[in-house]
Amino acid sequence: MNTLIRHARAIYCEPGSHPHNQPQIAADSTNPALPTDIRIRDGVITEIGTQLLPADDEQIIDASGCVVWPGLVNTHHHLAQSVLKGVPEGLNQALGDWLGSVPYRFWPKISPKLMYHAARLGLYELLRSGATTCADHHYLYHANSSPEVEDAVWAAATS
Ligand SMILES: [Zn+2]
Repeated sequence: MNTLIRHARAIYCEPGSHPHNQPQIAADSTNPALPTDIRIRDGVITEIGTQLLPADDEQIIDASGCVVWPGLVNTHHHLAQSVLKGVPEGLNQALGDWLGSVPYRFWPKISPKLMYHAARLGLYELLRSGATTCADHHYLYHANSSPEVEDAVWAAATS
């Protein structure tokens, strides 16, 4: 799919300038009030500018009044815990006590199907907050667990 995002306030980094880059606020850094257009072809940003002309094969997104920025990276998440929020026994507990009364208690119940749905929920929540990349830290497995639990995370991420 090809997309042209138009009229956005964009925050991006110049290609190849990482890690000492300076975020750019708009396509024309001398005039940050100018709206920015972003052309995406086959999942790759191919052009950033102002008043880009739409191509026939592009989906147009009017981002007037919106800010566009690169996807955030969450380097430490526990997707399985997406379905363990609000367990009464864990409310208002310190981390150590909470670990024992919530996640460790429920590990035996984390089936591949539940893990799939927990991962989907967690990934949706991350997307809604701007994170497009996630490192899942599901490293404790119950004795009755199976490799399918891990496979379920990948299935959720790629579905
Ligand atoms: Zn952790």
